[in-house]
Amino acid sequence: MLPLTKDMQLIEELLAGNRRALARTITLVENDGPESRNALASLYGHTGRAHIVGVTGAPGTGKSTLVNALTKAYRHRGFTVGIVAVDPTSPFTGGALLGDRVRMRDLSGDAGIFIRSMATRGSLGGLAQATAGVILTLDAAGFNRIIVETVGVGQAEVDIASTAHTTIVIEAPGLGDEVQAIKAGVLEIADILAVNKADRDGVEKTVMALQMMLGMGLRQTSHHGQTMEIQEGITASPAWTPPILKTVALRDEGVDQLLQAIEGHRDYLHASGEFQRREEERARNALVHILQAAVLRRLTNQVPARQIQDVVAQVASRDLDPYTAAERLLPAVLAGN
Ligand code: GDP
Repeated sequence: MLPLTKDMQLIEELLAGNRRALARTITLVENDGPESRNALASLYGHTGRAHIVGVTGAPGTGKSTLVNALTKAYRHRGFTVGIVAVDPTSPFTGGALLGDRVRMRDLSGDAGIFIRSMATRGSLGGLAQATAGVILTLDAAGFNRIIVETVGVGQAEVDIASTAHTTIVIEAPGLGDEVQAIKAGVLEIADILAVNKADRDGVEKTVMALQMMLGMGLRQTSHHGQTMEIQEGITASPAWTPPILKTVALRDEGVDQLLQAIEGHRDYLHASGEFQRREEERARNALVHILQAAVLRRLTNQVPARQIQDVVAQVASRDLDPYTAAERLLPAVLAGN
């Protein structure tokens, strides 16, 4: 795809390190459209250098505070950091989210840091796509580490977090259950577990509960007392045991150890060949999403809404099965330019 000239200039400025061009490109790629796709296509060849760190956990576990502390630790070591804060529950778009004010006050004014908040896009799938676009843009702009922070409440957030190279799941003691966010699909994606608010009572209980769950490997006891294998998580690394770290984000305690664990995991990924495997998985997921979107776009553009509605009505009334209906619609999709 050839980008339009003005967008090409924008991308050249971004690649040259222009911050305004970066902000404008991010705004462009957040919105799905031909310009966005052209920009991302041009940027792709400049990506692949950043290490992407996913941070997820229940609200109130201290994600934002810990991400701030981690970012400062990275800056201290000379790394540049991009932060993408994803909150699917927030209805705001584009602007700063609530937690951002603290974050901005803490980290603003440093050219080695770029922060972007992402809120709901109408659909969670849209949010995942937009997030992927923003990560790609920050990677092309040369940020060494990209931290993607998501509220760990549902499958979509887990999916977004699991697109990272290294995923950190944050727990905190005293939030009700001993282990809050540990439900199927969350523990499995953790490469590192951080028990934040380690200054609080109950931290050892939380750590022990996590140790116990990890000690079982990726096994879970069924209600009938038999053990059953949990399907290997999409991104879980077979030969890596997630370390459990205690942190007090408010006082920067345990943050250096967290940084070292991330870097250790990164080294492990590269040395074991796991990095290549994850990159292929990311590439496959991206391609599948793009193809799905392209097919739907063509369907909408090339088949009149009324015709689609007719087919839908026939499927609903059992006059037509959806498999045959899809086969009948496909030629119109494939015939387009
Ligand atoms: P998030 O919702 O997961 O992003 O959590 P926040 O980072 O907004 O933190 C929630 C609250 O916990 C805030 O009031 C923080 O100041 C506080 N907090 C964060 N880290 C710690 C910690 O290590 N110890 C204690 N006691 N409080 C913390």
